[in-house]
Amino acid sequence: MAKKCVFCTHPADSREHIFSDWMLEMLPSDQRYVVNERISTRDKYIRYPVRKVGLKAKVVCTPCNNNWMSDLEGLCKTAMTPLLFGDNRTTLTPKEIVPIAAFAFKTLLLANHKDLKAAPFFPFAIRRAFRLSLRIPDGVHIWMATREVLAGKYYGFWKSQSGGTDQESPFGFRSYTCTWNFQNLILQVLATKWDNKERRRTVSPISFPQGSDWEGASTLIWPSDGNNIPWPPPFYLGDNAIERFRDRWNAFAVQFPSA
Ligand SMILES: [Zn+2]
Repeated sequence: MAKKCVFCTHPADSREHIFSDWMLEMLPSDQRYVVNERISTRDKYIRYPVRKVGLKAKVVCTPCNNNWMSDLEGLCKTAMTPLLFGDNRTTLTPKEIVPIAAFAFKTLLLANHKDLKAAPFFPFAIRRAFRLSLRIPDGVHIWMATREVLAGKYYGFWKSQSGGTDQESPFGFRSYTCTWNFQNLILQVLATKWDNKERRRTVSPISFPQGSDWEGASTLIWPSDGNNIPWPPPFYLGDNAIERFRDRWNAFAVQFPSA
């Protein structure tokens, strides 16, 4: 059976870029880039040099790609361009935060559907609502951080991970994380949902605040309280910190009440 679009019922006949065309056009064209790609079936990274970075996920349909996703891309280009190269002080308004958060959530959905082997993390109704109104569901937290960028160096990665409680419990839950980086900008999405369907319907998903040691470097942009966000945060992440940041949700310590 032909794979269906993440967001509607059309066949997935179109490739969505993980790093947008307009971003890649900002890179010098005479460079070669090293791509780190994780092959999920082999669970290892392969590294290869390329002239043009073209990581894509064939999980959407042509009408979605050409219409609302293209509109979102336009809003993202305006909001994100000043943040990708350089770290000039600025203030992000809700008008900029909303498309950036939507971009991050879209990237998580693409990651989840690119190598789908089980049921999608989010049911169709939620993906459809995102297409219709860019609605990000409850239980999704999005953080934004900056990375240290050395002159003449170019950076980008994309990593997603699914997880959840490993013991049988009425409070059991699943999680899905996606971290994306292009040049100065790092976006991280953490989604959770209860295992129990009844609980999922009646209780808000569990949420995890980031540790206080991350506060100076990573800013929660979603859920939005409607306020402006000063940018960039006081600290940027260097290479080692980025790895720890990327993998920071790999282990949860949760103490459940006794049932
Ligand atoms: Zn579609």
